[in-house]
Amino acid sequence: MGNSERFDAVIIGYGPVGATMAGLLARRGWQVAIIDRLPDIFPLPRAVRLDGETMRVFDELGIGDQVDADCQQARGAEFVDAKGKRIQGIDLPEDYVDPSGWVHSNMFYQPVLERTLRDDIEARANVTVLVSHEAGAPEQTDDSVTVDVSPVDGGETFTVEADYLIAADGAASPVRKSLGFAFQSLGYDCDWVVVDVDLKREVPSLAVITQQICDPKRRATYVPTVGLKRRWEFQLLVGEDKVEMAKEDKVWEMLAPWIGPDDAEIERSAGYQFHAAHADHWRDRRIFLAGDAAHQTPPFLGEGMVAGVRDAANLAWKLDMVKRGLAPEALLDTYQRERGPHAHDLVDHAVETGKLIDACADAQVTGNWPASYDAMYGGSRGLPHLHGGVLALSEEDPTDGLTGYQAPQAMVKIDGADPALLDRHVTGSFFIVSTEDLSSELSGEQKEFLDRIGAKRFVLGEGTCVTPQMDLHLAIHKALIVRPDRYIFGLANDTCSLSGQVNKLMSHFN
Ligand SMILES: Cc1cc2nc3c(=O)[nH]c(=O)nc-3n(C[C@H](O)[C@H](O)[C@H](O)COP(=O)(O)OP(=O)(O)OC[C@H]3O[C@@H](n4cnc5c(N)ncnc54)[C@H](O)[C@@H]3O)c2cc1C
Repeated sequence: MGNSERFDAVIIGYGPVGATMAGLLARRGWQVAIIDRLPDIFPLPRAVRLDGETMRVFDELGIGDQVDADCQQARGAEFVDAKGKRIQGIDLPEDYVDPSGWVHSNMFYQPVLERTLRDDIEARANVTVLVSHEAGAPEQTDDSVTVDVSPVDGGETFTVEADYLIAADGAASPVRKSLGFAFQSLGYDCDWVVVDVDLKREVPSLAVITQQICDPKRRATYVPTVGLKRRWEFQLLVGEDKVEMAKEDKVWEMLAPWIGPDDAEIERSAGYQFHAAHADHWRDRRIFLAGDAAHQTPPFLGEGMVAGVRDAANLAWKLDMVKRGLAPEALLDTYQRERGPHAHDLVDHAVETGKLIDACADAQVTGNWPASYDAMYGGSRGLPHLHGGVLALSEEDPTDGLTGYQAPQAMVKIDGADPALLDRHVTGSFFIVSTEDLSSELSGEQKEFLDRIGAKRFVLGEGTCVTPQMDLHLAIHKALIVRPDRYIFGLANDTCSLSGQVNKLMSHFN
């Protein structure tokens, strides 16, 4: 690479979030450089669970089927007491496809997922991958951002210049620190030891679903991941040391109620501080934070990487619209406005889930059971939705229960083609679905605008939806307007005309 080569985007951090960001920009034709100090994929798993929303993003990258094939469907999750008796939980039926059109909750092995992401990226001529390179603190002017990059083996430092920089550089984010953005703690800092094992054979006594084991002697999490892989996470007691407790003899002691060395090999054990935190700023002009650099969550909901993938999906289409001159710079301010509260809500939910584990464990000694189980698996606290930003509802409007939520997705038959997921007819752009042709409700200017931003229009008449995910909504509403990241921009119905909603959309592009 020559000195001062210019890219459309430079991404620091080739973890799952940086890789997703690179893929989403590259498939929009961007010239992307991605930098990581590590020589290769981090070889051990951290994240183990993803959801249907993540699968839609991976499907946009063209790797949905591959990732899905490598995953194993989660069959549920529960809180149990010290004797293994269920306190509350949720069981998922086999092959349960949720409104996203994908399996509701999938277990995966992170190194395999990252290999699939990287194989896709590295096959693209417009991505330059700089592994074994350390990125310095970025600098920016009005029209570009630069970063010095040094080979970790001591070669010559060179400069990479780009229109935008995305720091997906993990929880310790050197970029976040160099920008002076605070990382606010959200009230959960606790030491745990995480243990991944490979069973030598099936152990029938082990649960087939994830368990939060609320044992007053030691809280623990058990996760059946993929194949014969299993994970335990053990909360450390006051005075226990993370490094000591991750040693093999201690790990076998903690595993003893479930398995012994005859049953499994330890793949790894490591001490972690489970932390809840949120950066107070996610953008400084041409520089954006994404993934763990912007938010960090305790893992009780399996939502850390998933939230980072949402960041990438949210930011990619906005950057592209601005770079193509279709939308003003102000569109980029909606990135943190939308993603910040959503990520914050999920971190808060995970913290509440962690506190419930503690409360249920303590209750077995004190008899004081929690007053609310809302944040428990199967409880009433659901996924958050977007407020304000690029939505037909403003921050002050009450939610209509759909705007700002992920759009449902059905298998559809369009133009006589074989049934396919609707997303596959519309990669990375806005779309409008209706059951009737509503063209006559749109002015010439509105149609020209929709064409300019690449918005597609689908009329899903009788018999077109092969699976039922969208039926209910299309029976009530005339049309759904869906964003490139598959969030619902707005609805057309008897109280909101399609024309009025398109005008609201246009206002974000002026
Ligand atoms: C025990 C545990 C269980 C979890 N379970 C789940 C789960 O089930 N589901 C889920 O969604 N999430 C889960 N998570 C969270 C998930 O692992 C993280 O959110 C995710 O890996 C973050 O991805 P990232 O790409 O943002 O950052 P990272 O994966 O941390 O990647 C950052 C990269 O940046 C590189 N880097 C940093 N600074 C520089 C620099 N200056 N120059 C060059 N390179 C640099 C690093 O080398 C690193 O490769 C879990 C986490 C833990 C610890």
